Amino acid sequence: MPDLTDKAAQAYSTAYQSAIEDVISRYPALAKLPNERAAELLRDIDFENLFRTNYGMDKALEGLAVSFAKEIVVTPAPPILPSTETLSAVLQFEIDAANTQITQSAAEIKKIMMRSVLGRQSEAEFAAALNTNTLRPDQVNSYVNQNLRSFHRTVESQAAQANPEALYIWDGPLDNVTSDECVAMITLGALNEAEWQASGYGQYLESGTHYGCRHTLQMFVQPSQLENTKDAREV
Ligand SMILES: [Zn+2]
Repeated sequence: MPDLTDKAAQAYSTAYQSAIEDVISRYPALAKLPNERAAELLRDIDFENLFRTNYGMDKALEGLAVSFAKEIVVTPAPPILPSTETLSAVLQFEIDAANTQITQSAAEIKKIMMRSVLGRQSEAEFAAALNTNTLRPDQVNSYVNQNLRSFHRTVESQAAQANPEALYIWDGPLDNVTSDECVAMITLGALNEAEWQASGYGQYLESGTHYGCRHTLQMFVQPSQLENTKDAREV
């Protein structure tokens, strides 16, 4: 079931996909020009700016930043909030990484476009070259999703450290793709930070148990949060 993180990641990868489609649709006009003219045109195009402004990558990035920032508001709020400075710094690193990725993608696509023009490639060949040499939209989606979730885990983990008395559960779906480690962590139920560290699963609290892990610590405030724990213990 898609949650807020999935939706923000989806919006971002959709903007990326429409950028790629737009670039491909512009290729035939460029490919018709003599090589020197095409090279000249490509050199003068501020491709990164096009990518960011016209293709909406900056706006999608803003959406991601908002989604990240929302994770700072830990739900439910613990008695002591973790340091906002630390969290803001971590947030900035995430945004910087996504920003760098846009710059790199823009440069990479421009390079492939020039190479394809010189190689007299068809639109389909150019599209295939893009597909092989750049991130696919689904890869962008999972990359961004992974970063959003890692950030969320960092925030919750910092909150748990700031509130050593508070109990935390390993929150997230319990289904047929939940990893064995996550099932085991869900089974443990509500523990405080020190107990989590002593449980043998402490190293997963920020990183997750694997790439794409959908789980995070969440403060335990009501019995209904232990539904998954009950189910996991029964199995
Ligand atoms: Zn997991």
